[in-house]
Amino acid sequence: MHQHSGNNQALQVLETVFGYPAFRGQQAEIIDHVAHGGDALVLMPTGGGKSLCYQIPALLRDGVGVVISPLIALMQDQVDALAEVGVRAAFLNSTQTFEESSRIERQVRNGELDLVYVAPERLMTSRCLELLQASKIALFAIDEAHCVSQWGHDFRPEYIKLSVLHERFPQVPRIALTATADQQTRDEIAERLQLVDAHKYVSSFDRPNIRYQIVEKANGRKQLLDFIQSTHSGDAGIVYCLSRKKVEETAEFLSDNGIQSLPYHAGMKYEQRAANQARFLREDGIVMTATIAFGMGIDKPDVRFVAHLDLPKSIEGYYQETGRAGRDGAPANAWMTYGLQDVVQQRRMIAESEADETFKRVLGAKLDAMLGLCETLACRRMHLLDYFGQSSERCGNCDTCLNPPISFDGTVAVQKLLSTVYRVDQRFAGGHVIEILRGIETDRIKQWRHDQLSTFGIGAETSEAEWRAILRQVIALGLLAVDYESYSALKLTDAARPVLRGAQKAQLRQYQKPVKPRRESGKTKGYEESTLSVAEQALFDKLRWWRVETARKNNVPAYVIFHDATLRDIAKAQPRSIGDLRGVTGVGEKKLETYGEQIVALLAELV
Ligand code: ADP
Ligand code: ZN
Repeated sequence: MHQHSGNNQALQVLETVFGYPAFRGQQAEIIDHVAHGGDALVLMPTGGGKSLCYQIPALLRDGVGVVISPLIALMQDQVDALAEVGVRAAFLNSTQTFEESSRIERQVRNGELDLVYVAPERLMTSRCLELLQASKIALFAIDEAHCVSQWGHDFRPEYIKLSVLHERFPQVPRIALTATADQQTRDEIAERLQLVDAHKYVSSFDRPNIRYQIVEKANGRKQLLDFIQSTHSGDAGIVYCLSRKKVEETAEFLSDNGIQSLPYHAGMKYEQRAANQARFLREDGIVMTATIAFGMGIDKPDVRFVAHLDLPKSIEGYYQETGRAGRDGAPANAWMTYGLQDVVQQRRMIAESEADETFKRVLGAKLDAMLGLCETLACRRMHLLDYFGQSSERCGNCDTCLNPPISFDGTVAVQKLLSTVYRVDQRFAGGHVIEILRGIETDRIKQWRHDQLSTFGIGAETSEAEWRAILRQVIALGLLAVDYESYSALKLTDAARPVLRGAQKAQLRQYQKPVKPRRESGKTKGYEESTLSVAEQALFDKLRWWRVETARKNNVPAYVIFHDATLRDIAKAQPRSIGDLRGVTGVGEKKLETYGEQIVALLAELV
């Protein structure tokens, strides 16, 4: 990779302040551009290293860097993490007393801070804008910039007003950052934030250390428990559910089965939510069971899995949620159960929503893309990256690569299904139609004389689970629609005609009985963490204990002190002096000064 001239200063900050030897991906170029006063729009996947893209230019430029972030609950941790590396940072938000914010405002005015984090509502107040106008500003960083998008899943109305920054501070560089990759949102960000002329940096969105798995839902909760017990015992993870009620039930179910799990959703009291989030961040091995209200900006690096018990509404949402796994680059799993009920439920939510027709069409298209990912016979990662406009090869690290699904010509089965729907006048739901196909003489079937239909029993050789899998795919393919207004009756769509006539074939994914996940299947070959010897492992464990103690004393999350990767490197290098410790990845000057002696002493005791 070519380095820009004048970037030596940036590199020096990277080494001495953050303790990292080299920039990742496009960091060097972005930092150079912004440090020289340019505007930038940065699209980088979660874990790509976006923070340094504005933190280093803020340190290199005169004045304070203003970071606009919607995540009030996380500002404290962000500021603490910066303090750990010796950067002068603070935040302004509604959790502070008037005295506290007045003190921070004074520091901003006097040029005593490198970075200040502000929530967008706060920024828009005339008091705050006047403060900034009276201060020297190094740059504006607009974090989670996709919040400006009305089509997106995290829309924050205040974000739209952020265009005033360009008008009121035309000379201050602005950098907008997001992990959302689709073109539509990207264009919207550029337009609404008046960043059309900004330099756009689009990174590869691949997260090679994440293994994608989508399994057929049988008993979702039980499958989840098996997955966690067999692959992730003792690991930190996130489980996403659609509803608040399901969040609570699932958290309780996991806890009853010996997995430390906490709930999180927007219906909980703020204090309880914040407390659960703090525990998740600070303690090891907690599973957060949550709605999508949880997770934006959570930069806990060692989340080992993200599980979805319900179907996400879009690929963007799925990718962002699963992206919270494995930010540290070590192997992680994105696991999901998916079944007929998910398709029906999501389609119904769109149909019944208050949105206007255009918006419903957008939502429908996004859901269809998500269903396409679930039903694909090809590599999941290729499918995902393709959705974001990036071409790639089979990855070897997703379920369809590792265990290729069998596809079959399902045309005849689909025709049987469609013609049964036709014969019952499109007035009955899926369960009833499957019973007819399987030739089951229920009271209801006899009452309606459906045992007289020519299709009664023509699918008897196929199990109920298999029929459900076929029905799910037929609905996902859009050949049948569910009429929520009349008892979830199945209706034929226009797309069904060519299949019924035999003019078009239907290629389906064969139903596979759910199998118990095996421990090995969660570990990713090719992304293996380097193994530690027995002695090194003992040192590593010792260092982790030290880290827990230190984090508790300082009241910060453990990863703010050092990442696992850094502790591993220390366990391997076994430094005997402060000098040896310098140069270990993740050990900057400030941390060396604060913790160097303790670590050298700790190792001396043991080696
Ligand atoms: P993002 O905001 O893009 O999700 P972060 O800025 O939180 O990502 O960075 C993810 C992790 O990678 C952090 O722990 C960060 O310290 C680390 N990181 C970022 N840049 C580098 C680098 N150049 N070298 C080593 N680690 C890095
Ligand atoms: Zn793959």
